[in-house]
Amino acid sequence: MPGNSGILRAIPLYVWVLFGLAAGILWGWLALHYGWTEFSERWVIPWGTLFLRLLQMMAVPIILVSLIKGVGTLEDLRSLSRVGSLTFTYYLGTTALAITIGLTLGTWFQPGKLFSEAQRIEFQHKYAEQVSTKLAQAQAQNRSPLQVLVEMVPPNPFDAFTENRRMLQVIVFAILLGMGLVAIPRSKRMPVLQVIEGLEEALLWLVQKILWLAPPGVFGLMVQIMIDTGGKNLQDTLVALGAYAGTVILGLCVMLLLVYPVLVGVLTGGYPLRFLRSILPAQLVAFSTSSSAATLPVSLRIARTRLNISDSVSGFVLPLGATINMDGTALYQGVATLFIAQAMNIDLTLTQKLEVLLMAVLASVGAAAIPGAGMIMLLVILQSVGIAPEGIALILAVDRPLDMLRTTVNVTSDLTAATLVHHFVHRRKGSHAQNLSDYRSRPERLTR
Ligand code: ASP
Repeated sequence: MPGNSGILRAIPLYVWVLFGLAAGILWGWLALHYGWTEFSERWVIPWGTLFLRLLQMMAVPIILVSLIKGVGTLEDLRSLSRVGSLTFTYYLGTTALAITIGLTLGTWFQPGKLFSEAQRIEFQHKYAEQVSTKLAQAQAQNRSPLQVLVEMVPPNPFDAFTENRRMLQVIVFAILLGMGLVAIPRSKRMPVLQVIEGLEEALLWLVQKILWLAPPGVFGLMVQIMIDTGGKNLQDTLVALGAYAGTVILGLCVMLLLVYPVLVGVLTGGYPLRFLRSILPAQLVAFSTSSSAATLPVSLRIARTRLNISDSVSGFVLPLGATINMDGTALYQGVATLFIAQAMNIDLTLTQKLEVLLMAVLASVGAAAIPGAGMIMLLVILQSVGIAPEGIALILAVDRPLDMLRTTVNVTSDLTAATLVHHFVHRRKGSHAQNLSDYRSRPERLTR
């Protein structure tokens, strides 16, 4: 991205991306005030769409090859169960913790009680149409909680490859195929893995080139968000929904600045601040795309080049996490459920809150790693505790900025998982984390 000149190359990618982000907000604001929206839609926004499509293009192939390789290169099925059980324990534990934080903050601050009745009716009316569309999608997708399990299995994997929304099915197929590779004799497994490795390398090379487009891409995406939300309108609504948004943001910040750094610091002995700094590019891409799937190629690259996480761990933990581990989404769903209930004068009992917790774990597994997916799954949670799903109209207006932040949390959680699993797997192996000691003693590797 930073062209050929030395000065440009010396500026790290994330600075360029930050610059694109700020410039996009400024341009969007100017476009709204000086009537440049048509020009922006024709000449600026397509750069954002192009960047997003390029990243999305990489999602299915990367998930497929990195998971097959991640599972296939494990020594035996016992190592798979070790990596797998560590990963699932982390995913389940942090997701449950995130919803608990969301429910606690929502109960403390009671943001829903701050709405006047007139406001509630206005919001419901304004978003009635969008709600029915989202509702129809949710009803079509989820009839029973077990439906999530049923839909994890693709009746035809090639069919699943054609749709980014069906990433979980691609993952299930890739894990099963990887297990098959581990089970067959080494002489037959190795040629397949070599092909897969070559493919993976080529895909990651491509990602590196695509990232050159990140600054204009993020610029275009921010202009689009500003124009879509009307800029000023977004600001007004944010003030009205400030308490709700503030509660979600507070919870997400607790995860981002406290839970993950403490986990990394305490469990691996690494430096939490360095960890956060090294994953910043992935966080920025997550923030601007609102899609864990679109961010996956960047997360994989960071895990391998900056965090020195082994290919087998990052190739298994990150694609799986991008699809099923959504702490930020779960936390948001906890606060949103309480907020809507409070706004409608419904007091949820402890049992109902526990039900929300369980449903949010399932919903975050089932939610696609794309913008707005968490909101669709929120409808399922609302219905399960008997809250009119139309209440979602109350939060639609601020959903996009919160989606940006919760996706950042989702991606941070995946990278934390990869760091912890790598640490424990290598420590137990006895080979200990040669990589990890690199990670602690050679900080410059983290700031590349
Ligand atoms: N956009 C989120 C993600 O991709 C999912 C969501 O909460 O809507 O991780």
